Amino acid sequence: MGEWVYRFGGGKAEGGAADVERLGGKGAHLAEMASLGLPVPPGLTIVCDACTHYFNSGRSLPEGLKQEVLDGITAMEELTGRVYGDTARPLLLSVRSGARASMPGMMDTVLNLGLNDETVRTLAVDSEDPRFAWDSYRRFIQMYGCVVMGLDHEVFEEILEDEKAKAGHEYDTDLCAAEWQEVVQLYKHVIEEELGEIFPQDPHLQLWKAIGAVFASWMNPRAATFRMLHRIPEEWGTAVSVQAMVFGNLGSSSATGVAFTRNPSTGENALYGEFLVNAQGEDVVAGIRTPQSITEEGRLASGSEKPSMEKLMPQVFAEFRAICTRLEAHYRDMQDVEFTIERGKLWMLQTRSGKRTTKAGMKIAVDMVEEGLITKEQAVCRIEPPSLDQLLHPTIDPRVERHVLGSGLPASPGAATGEIVFTAEEAVHAEEEGRKVILVRIETSPEDIHGMNAAEAILTTRGGMTSHAAVVARGMGIPCVVGAGSMRVDLRNETLIGVGGVTLHRGEVITIDGSSGQVLRGAVPMIQPALSGDFAKLMAWADETRRMAVRTNADTPQDARAARDFGAEGIGLCRTEHMFFEGERIHAMREMILAEDEKGRRAALAKLLPYQRSDFTELFSIMHGLPVTIRLLDPPLHEFLPKTEAEIEDVARAMNMPPAFLARRIDALHEFNPMLGLRGCRLAISYPEIAEMQARAIFEAAVAAAKRTGEAVELEILVPLVSLRAELDYVKGVIDRVAAEVGAENGSPIAYLAGTMIELPRAALRAHVIAETAEFFSFGTNDLTQTTFGISRDDAAAFIPTYQRKGIIEHDPFISLDFDGVGELIQIAAERGRRSRSDLKLGICGEHGGDPDSIRFCENVGLDYVSCSPFRVPIARLAAAQAAIERQGKRSVSS
Ligand code: PEP
Ligand code: MG
Repeated sequence: MGEWVYRFGGGKAEGGAADVERLGGKGAHLAEMASLGLPVPPGLTIVCDACTHYFNSGRSLPEGLKQEVLDGITAMEELTGRVYGDTARPLLLSVRSGARASMPGMMDTVLNLGLNDETVRTLAVDSEDPRFAWDSYRRFIQMYGCVVMGLDHEVFEEILEDEKAKAGHEYDTDLCAAEWQEVVQLYKHVIEEELGEIFPQDPHLQLWKAIGAVFASWMNPRAATFRMLHRIPEEWGTAVSVQAMVFGNLGSSSATGVAFTRNPSTGENALYGEFLVNAQGEDVVAGIRTPQSITEEGRLASGSEKPSMEKLMPQVFAEFRAICTRLEAHYRDMQDVEFTIERGKLWMLQTRSGKRTTKAGMKIAVDMVEEGLITKEQAVCRIEPPSLDQLLHPTIDPRVERHVLGSGLPASPGAATGEIVFTAEEAVHAEEEGRKVILVRIETSPEDIHGMNAAEAILTTRGGMTSHAAVVARGMGIPCVVGAGSMRVDLRNETLIGVGGVTLHRGEVITIDGSSGQVLRGAVPMIQPALSGDFAKLMAWADETRRMAVRTNADTPQDARAARDFGAEGIGLCRTEHMFFEGERIHAMREMILAEDEKGRRAALAKLLPYQRSDFTELFSIMHGLPVTIRLLDPPLHEFLPKTEAEIEDVARAMNMPPAFLARRIDALHEFNPMLGLRGCRLAISYPEIAEMQARAIFEAAVAAAKRTGEAVELEILVPLVSLRAELDYVKGVIDRVAAEVGAENGSPIAYLAGTMIELPRAALRAHVIAETAEFFSFGTNDLTQTTFGISRDDAAAFIPTYQRKGIIEHDPFISLDFDGVGELIQIAAERGRRSRSDLKLGICGEHGGDPDSIRFCENVGLDYVSCSPFRVPIARLAAAQAAIERQGKRSVSS
């Protein structure tokens, strides 16, 4: 192997699957397949480093690269018996991108290199049908014209559409050789006209330019957006594979297709794929013709009349099936393969780990453990925790009547409702306005990626299960229906026409059922999915593996129940302030805030006590003996007061006081910086009667719930926004006194822990001192991020995206923990806290408690639990298991 180039072909290869970092996914697996002796057209892969070099050196190919490529081509010539640039036996090449991570359709490819005005004639004579040669040449000119010369796709499409219209043809395949030849002339002409240069005839010039252009496509805007969405570092660069062309468009014994070794939508262990006879690769993914099923089973399931590959080409099918089985056993994972059949000879063009729905991923992982292919731990690591969201998506209530507008293929599961929009831009705009939309397109292309990301669901009227829309939506975990051929998109009038001519306009609401493929009129009642079967099995394996407990942030019975169903092992944060807004409570709360003295406050607090007690009793009962952390009142008091003039008038009337008086009281409570003002433990210190009432409600509820459930409540009381030990000592004094009183009233002492939020840098730094009082710490990373950065968490959205775009920060620190700064404070607090109190319980209850990367950090710092919103509980369970497995792995490597 050279410095820049690895070769493969003829049953041998330099490098293999282990070299993904150097060779990119495509290159590494082509090499692996070649080494396995599978039929792979010979080729070479230019390493990713060459791409980085290309950009660092002002867009020039590295020294020595050309010679290594030429040597590689000589090897291909020996294997194929053809010569690149030769007019008698021309070798044609493909030049494809292939990064370390899969980036479907984001970068460019050029096919049919080596064709020119002379070689096209040899090809025309060699093939049975000269149509093929001229069609290939026009494809080449079009691809090269767009990718290398920078012309718009439409320039060529318009010419083709005109030619078809002139000749009265409906499909591209209807054009004869002479007509394609005419298209070639027009394409060459338009290039000259638009760019003032002629289409290059020198195959070597074509090759170097194409390699450069494919490198350059690493930086195109759609690739950059995709990298940002998937956190792929820019410095990786892409590898480039240069490979001998094989043709699926050489007549009826030729074909091209894509397949998954198991069903990517359901996970069923059955070969699943699509192919097109007499076509080239891009025809299948482009969704221009609706492809045929590979297997008979698939054909029957789709109700297609067109014959399957199994029936049409039984021998090649048998060979293909055997290769798929071999690849799956070799990689121990479901594979997504691309192949071409050239005059009855099968060629494998790509294999990679196949993208799948989470449901399918679960089934495949569980089945593979049961088939003995992988271990339980490997299965647990196979599922991306955020993708569990897909399983938690609502589905349409089966009891409701469906007003079906049309249907297509069920490309990505789950159901979603939204307004119809027809462009990606509109989808993005609507999302910014907080509107939910369904992106409706004839077909999607990589340019639509930002709009797809903004939409609730995607509907296309063309294309198959492997079309761009289907693949991308599955990856994003949003519902998608593709190939809804019974519906029509009329872009000029901005309408979607359903079965029977029902016409819907832009902005009208539809529902997409990505599990059945149906498109329904209006909004439809949904139900939550049952989390059983494979999900339950895999989550049980995750639970066996993880070290940290997973709790939930919940302050309503509804959230607490949902979290229990999702497997929460307690409540890590109950924010009591949310309990003061409902109905009568807000009046008593306002009375308390506006009271002129302690007596008045106590009178109002007495009205709040029963509400608090019954809320806590309910939560404790639902949690049935599991730990529950209740936080004392945290926010600044004016958050409970009316804001607008009209509200002030309403409230004043209800409270029987003049509006001007109320307005003056509100003014008096005004703070310049409420987030840094009278809140958290500062409230309990200023008005201890509030903490007293809350403590009494908590303890009385604990007694009541224990009686109701027969289980003692594992009670933790959390004091917010502490920075000084003396603050905690004071508030803990109040809590302990009330506990003693309630204990005495009930004739038995009450067990509880008193702890503090660590959400201010001073608290983290003085953790060893604070831990002398605190029996547990709960890291409030929302406030800790806010106060460490000095960035208001409520105003961050105004500039964090700009910071990200300008590369100043990679991630939003309010979503994914800032390991270097906030993380270091957590580490310091954990170490210092445990130094003073070795059994100090440590948890996290900020938003980061549900973020997989932050959870990994928590595992490594040795926290005891993470706490997150109910819907993120399964994600946290899985992420915690993966973090534990990763940590174990690191430990065993270093020991
Ligand atoms: C925090 O600050 O991280 C926290 C959990 O508290 P809140 O979000 O209620 O301020
Ligand atoms: Mg906080």
